[in-house]
Amino acid sequence: MPTELTDYDPSLGNKFIFVTGGVMSGLGKGITAASTGRLLANAGFDVTAVKIDPYLNVDAGTMNPYQHGEVYVLKDGGEVDLDLGNYERFLDIDMTFDHNVTTGKTYRHVIEKERAGDYLGDTVQIIPHITDDIKRRIREAAAGHDVCIVEVGGTVGDIEGMPYLEALRQFSHEEDSEDLIFAHVTLVPYSKNGEQKTKPTQHSVKELRSIGLQPDILVGRCDEELDPETKEKIALFCDVPVDAVFSNPDVEDIYHVPLMVEEEGLGDYVMNRLDLASDSLPTAERNNEWRKIVTRETTGEIDIALVGKYALEDAYLSIHESLKHAGFETRTDVNVLWVDADEMDDAHADRLERADGIIVPGGFGARGTEGKIEAVRYARENEVPFLGLCLGFQMAVVEFARNVCGFAGANSTEMGEDTPHPVIDILPEQYEIDDMGGTMRLGAHETGIDAGTLAHDVYGADSCTERHRHRYEVNPEYIDALESEGLVFSGRAGNRMEILELPGHPFFFGTQFHPEFRSRPGRASPPFVELVETILENAEIEEEVTA
Ligand code: GLN
Repeated sequence: MPTELTDYDPSLGNKFIFVTGGVMSGLGKGITAASTGRLLANAGFDVTAVKIDPYLNVDAGTMNPYQHGEVYVLKDGGEVDLDLGNYERFLDIDMTFDHNVTTGKTYRHVIEKERAGDYLGDTVQIIPHITDDIKRRIREAAAGHDVCIVEVGGTVGDIEGMPYLEALRQFSHEEDSEDLIFAHVTLVPYSKNGEQKTKPTQHSVKELRSIGLQPDILVGRCDEELDPETKEKIALFCDVPVDAVFSNPDVEDIYHVPLMVEEEGLGDYVMNRLDLASDSLPTAERNNEWRKIVTRETTGEIDIALVGKYALEDAYLSIHESLKHAGFETRTDVNVLWVDADEMDDAHADRLERADGIIVPGGFGARGTEGKIEAVRYARENEVPFLGLCLGFQMAVVEFARNVCGFAGANSTEMGEDTPHPVIDILPEQYEIDDMGGTMRLGAHETGIDAGTLAHDVYGADSCTERHRHRYEVNPEYIDALESEGLVFSGRAGNRMEILELPGHPFFFGTQFHPEFRSRPGRASPPFVELVETILENAEIEEEVTA
């Protein structure tokens, strides 16, 4: 029987950490997994990750941000689950589309092979064909790294997750026992009288064991740390040593989770269990660098208005994180004020006016765009520092065309096909491709930056390579008209306008790309840092004037 594993070399020596979740979803299993990876990275290991999403979508590109949060974009253009963003941020790595395994991808591949006759007449089945394909994908993504964290989305017991857990069961028999561990993240709730309850954990471990998987490590998500008695009970009922039970209490900032779980020795436990000898720093010092970045004392506080259409933090997760990173770098607490572009009532308008800076994020479709255009106008006219991202960049062009150039009714053809001034449009050469579908420009592309511009100061270089996810562009026919009124396109890629700025304004900056997907703790995205710094400088000047 042909399997795809023939080219797999078991001497590659990867170690695997499989992370499953019990009781309910939304426990922060991904953050726990990424934090464990951070501890290993801090000890000097090359860590990567695979996120398994047991849904039938081939990728996250078509998913509604209301249901799933933002669509995260990788450098290779993969449109993936936002959890991959957490892995990139925690581990400071660049992942690829292959690091997101979905049921849609796996089944499509197997069915295509079946149609091509590759199975030579075999009956094609979930076991072994789908499970083999799952194992192949995990091993390929792990190749070349010391440790691969594999997070299975959803909760143990979900029908969708079964083929994956079966694949992991097989996997565990194909590897040496010191090369892989199973970590299970569950919920430890409180009873009415304030007692930590272990029954849900017991049940979900029972469910795991009925599939043939015995967890090596249990992590209990709880408001507080687990009591010693709670740990003992979990150890006894779930058949793990008591020092393999860890607490993961609520913390104020997700970037503190690695420090939190290390307090109970999670990193050392995992390394011992996987026979990974760290020749780097002693345990106490390993996490100092990370601690320094994420626990820096702040000296100021600012408010940024985020003018979007999904009243859900996850829908703009990478922007929230980028602002946090910029805050780490500038020692600033950055508060985000939510402004609904679609229903700009008094409360929302008030927040817009209260804010020290304004971000108009990306988006698709017409809803909320008029509110976004108004927010841009407000920022431009009142000299409020402004950052427009993707659709926000496009709406800045529309606003400038309407209110400065006097092109009444100017718009993007995405919002109004009949606009008299299509300042944002599909490029002429794209119209032909459009007939064949698929015109989205995705992934990392280089932008050339003009010397002597704000963009050049921001990036400190003649070019930048950032991630894209868009269809529409500044219409080349309007560039001269826009620039003659003072708008400057300081970053370009061929005939595509990538960065705009407005000289004379303290900070009016737009990018056709999404810088938020490359921001990391310790390596904050330059446009976000500049936004925060401009606000801080403005505040200082104001103080001087009033003093
Ligand atoms: N809807 C716009 C486009 O397709 C912007 C996309 C975005 O903001 N990601 O070009």
